[in-house]
Amino acid sequence: MHLVCLDLEGVLTPEIWIAFADRVGIPELRRTTRDEPDYDKLMRRRLQLLRMHELGLADIQAVIAGLSPLPGAKEFLDALRHDYQVVILSDTFYEFAMPLMAQLGYPTLFCHRLVADAQGFLSDYRLRLPDQKRASVRRFRELNFRVIAAGDSYNDTAMLSEAHAGILFRPPQNVIDEFPQFPVTRSYEELRAAIDAAAERVGDA
Ligand SMILES: [Mg+2]
Repeated sequence: MHLVCLDLEGVLTPEIWIAFADRVGIPELRRTTRDEPDYDKLMRRRLQLLRMHELGLADIQAVIAGLSPLPGAKEFLDALRHDYQVVILSDTFYEFAMPLMAQLGYPTLFCHRLVADAQGFLSDYRLRLPDQKRASVRRFRELNFRVIAAGDSYNDTAMLSEAHAGILFRPPQNVIDEFPQFPVTRSYEELRAAIDAAAERVGDA
């Protein structure tokens, strides 16, 4: 049995924090781990900014509901789920992703959680597990799945390495240069063809 693990942001949806920052007009929310390598510091600042701008969870979800998956993502995912078991492994948060999951037909998503206080403001975050993408693939292999993983960026490379086959989708040049072992795809047609070829190559469990 083959199982396909997909990254979410950059593969099926836009980068949610960046799209959200643009939508609400808070440029500082565009900061990522590239600008602030200390993830906890980055998240604390994000939560502080949301509170300063009086954006509670309901407001945030209403804004995110106005975002759309990438063009063609839903059709790609529907067709993929017809032929494979698919799990989306993401470092986003359920509270952010759910409006977009609704538009994708509620595929299975493993990610993290945000915590809201009594007033509905986000007060904290909970990582379900550190390095969960790699850990999930390892467990799926133990469950006797042949795992094919696809993602777009640096935080996917551990899961791509752990899988029987790893595929890059629209990656930045530095990731292509550093990880030449992974094939690069740029359209959903190419990604689907690479998944099918990998399934053929790794065989059945
Ligand atoms: Mg991504």
